[in-house]
Amino acid sequence: MKKAILLRFGEIFLKGKNKYVFDNMLMHNILQSLKDYKVKLTKISGRYIIDEYEEIFENEIIEKLSHVFGLYSLSPTFVVETSQNNIEECLKNIELDCNTFKVEVKRADKLFPIQSIEFASLMGGVILDKYNNLKVNLKNPDTTIYIEIREDGKSYIYSKIIKCAGGMPVGSSGGGLLLLSGGIDSPVAGYLMSKRGMPLHAIHFHSFPYTSQLAKDKVITLAKIISEYTGNITLHIVPFTKIQEEIHKNCKPEFMITLMRRIMMRIAEIIAKENNLKAIITGESLAQVASQTIESITVTNSVINDLPVLRPLIAMDKEDIIEISKKINTYETSILPYEDCCTVFLPEHPLIKPKLEKVLKEEERLDIKNLIDNALKQVEIINTNEI
Ligand code: ATP
Ligand code: MG
Repeated sequence: MKKAILLRFGEIFLKGKNKYVFDNMLMHNILQSLKDYKVKLTKISGRYIIDEYEEIFENEIIEKLSHVFGLYSLSPTFVVETSQNNIEECLKNIELDCNTFKVEVKRADKLFPIQSIEFASLMGGVILDKYNNLKVNLKNPDTTIYIEIREDGKSYIYSKIIKCAGGMPVGSSGGGLLLLSGGIDSPVAGYLMSKRGMPLHAIHFHSFPYTSQLAKDKVITLAKIISEYTGNITLHIVPFTKIQEEIHKNCKPEFMITLMRRIMMRIAEIIAKENNLKAIITGESLAQVASQTIESITVTNSVINDLPVLRPLIAMDKEDIIEISKKINTYETSILPYEDCCTVFLPEHPLIKPKLEKVLKEEERLDIKNLIDNALKQVEIINTNEI
């Protein structure tokens, strides 16, 4: 009787001809997430099996696997060579902590001579013999014991189904550049796009010394946390101080945020293209703040030439975003009270509905090309898998 982990995948089933490409990608991502452990990964029909790991690491391995996009559930399982006797022995050794149970048999191996329903009731009898205070409840049991008799000559016996992250394997879509601030929203936006298969780079605009080293470290930590789901993130840290100072010096204060945002977007599009990324991602949510009205978004968006700007949170309430950030473990870091570059030089009355003509007039006071070229010369690059 061996231990293993049975993995189930979701939507890649749907993908017809591309299925094997997605399959290889998912297997690669699984192994990547377990690179610190000795494991063996095998594909059987409709499932993957992880085994040959050290049992003391089982919980850690399960935790890692539950973050791999494309997997939708897993079960720690016992594995035996298929025979009635082996399955019975296994059931006698299984630990059960419940009052009622049922047995469910899946007989993929049609050579196994006893039909599913009959075998389930036989095995139920074996369990009742061992635990005489247990009762069978077919409709609403505390625990279901699953026996999968598979074509590979092995049977898998388990009672837990643990939900995984779902989505599509990272790498099954072209890449995206996430505008990552230190706030609650943008890490969640990156997580959600990556869940649809998009590998990520991230870009952060940093205004040292107005914003501190701690503020920068916080963003690096956030990138590291989401990389648990997304795989390596290349983080581009762009100095933004000079740009903000120039806007502050030359332009009307109420235009500050709009002008900053437009320069951020221009820089993001350049870096995205340089890195062959296919989209820009932001954490904007409609009407959350002045810079996120539909008018502000329109004016910001209009500097982008080619790439789509994806805003997965656009229709979400803050509470729902917070719920995801707690689930993916970014919340506690996001709420650390370090200043963001957007709060530096914050005007008292930012424009809620900026007009493009007026914004363009303000921009004439800036040497935007030069400011961008200089910022691009000083970009610092950090890969999360190296920290
Ligand atoms: P977040 O919680 O992600 O900071 P927010 O609600 O604070 O979002 P804003 O500060 O208006 O909203 O920022 C909107 C979006 O612009 C962010 O979600 C992020 O994608 C991007 N952004 C803002 N500041 C920065 C920054 N310093 N570097 C990179 N991207 C930024
Ligand atoms: Mg913010």
